[in-house]
Amino acid sequence: MFYSRAETLLYHLANRYLRPFLPSEYLVELQDRFMEAEQQIKSHPEALAWSQRVLWLSHWDGVLSSNSESVDIAAKLSTALLHNHQVTIHYQGKDKPFQFNPFGLIKRDQSLMVVGSYWQNSDPFVLALRKILAIELTDQPAIQPAEDFDLQAFLNRQLNFPHSQEKIPCLQIEFSEDMYSYISDHALEAEHVHIISPAEYHHDGYFLLEAREVVDGERLRQWIRGFSHKAQVLKPNALRLVMEQARLDTRTNLLTATEFKRCLKREIQRCLRDKQMSFAMLILDLDHFKQVNDLNGHDFGDIVLLQVADCIREYDEAARHGGEEFCVLLPNTKLPEAVIIANRIRRQIEQKTLKNQHDKVVPVTASIGLAVFPNDLPANLTAMIEQGKDVAKLSELAAASVFHQADQALYQAKEQGRNRVCLAADLV
Ligand code: GH3
Ligand code: MG
Ligand code: MG
Repeated sequence: MFYSRAETLLYHLANRYLRPFLPSEYLVELQDRFMEAEQQIKSHPEALAWSQRVLWLSHWDGVLSSNSESVDIAAKLSTALLHNHQVTIHYQGKDKPFQFNPFGLIKRDQSLMVVGSYWQNSDPFVLALRKILAIELTDQPAIQPAEDFDLQAFLNRQLNFPHSQEKIPCLQIEFSEDMYSYISDHALEAEHVHIISPAEYHHDGYFLLEAREVVDGERLRQWIRGFSHKAQVLKPNALRLVMEQARLDTRTNLLTATEFKRCLKREIQRCLRDKQMSFAMLILDLDHFKQVNDLNGHDFGDIVLLQVADCIREYDEAARHGGEEFCVLLPNTKLPEAVIIANRIRRQIEQKTLKNQHDKVVPVTASIGLAVFPNDLPANLTAMIEQGKDVAKLSELAAASVFHQADQALYQAKEQGRNRVCLAADLV
């Protein structure tokens, strides 16, 4: 079943945002379409990027609109959550204050709620923040819910609240300077969360909180919600720009080199987990492209780049790696199939009839280097994989190695006369 791009996007958005609210019989009926759309959207990187942006922009709205009346309470709860501390809560309708072990701060409709348990009794429940009269932080470590407690199932049951384990690609929020000491004293200790002080930051009266590549798991968002009343200026434009630059090459709409590297590492990690899996990668470089530019003008060269991008766009992870160099990741692909795909791309480029401003056809060809994981890894890396060492480090090393192998094969293709595919497996 194939849908148009627009239909794909609509099903994808419905899957992403409406799922928790759909009656179950609709969900059953739509399930196949949702899955199909999720598959298809991967081949429309621009649509996928747009959807990511919507997600993040809607998150900004969430940050901005959080209930400002319970701000101090939210900030204190954020801190308690962050450091896993118990709090003492004075709650409307209760005579005495009670000890509370918070483990989640959530937002529903326009109000903030906290999930936690009493001191005496570990059954979790939800408190509305607006009913909290006062709250005190304590030094006592909070009691964690029982190991078999499933927070997600609990939230789904109680609130239909979708949970996020997504990685936050990039987040920038300006806070007013008077919040600086409070926020920096209660900073979230995540490796990629940075606070740029008012002195270093270029807008008087503000400082910047920046986070990149943070696995959210709700904590970062909860934390920010606690301070969000002081978020004076959010920077959706800067955010959009950074995200676009990080994910998509502005000229071709293919992935960027950075994003490609991320995909490569992710694929390697997948293969490390499941030893049956393998993948192939191609590096493609246009032949004598400098000459094509020199003879026909840079604008023509740019058009050629777009045409070449079109030849590889159909693959899930196709990237522009630099000026006139492209990469393609072929998940779950073995050498023979990868060779066929590489030659198909090479032929498509060769067969394009690209006319310059004088209506003359300009021949354009490309050379391709091909490497296969794990087959083309050097012996020392293969040994490391067998020992099952540090996966993050291994994927970093292996990504660099696969890339290097494909690049060497590309070099060979150039040496052998260009317009051909060479394999890392054949390198001596
Ligand atoms: P080879 O076959 O050895 O790869 O030769 P080449 O001329 O393609 O290689 P070289 O790396 O020397 O030149 C790459 C050229 O690509 C240089 C530059 O003019 C051109 N180029 C790089 N980026 C762009 C771009 O964005 N637009 C255009 N039009 N040309 C670009
Ligand atoms: Mg080049
Ligand atoms: Mg070239």
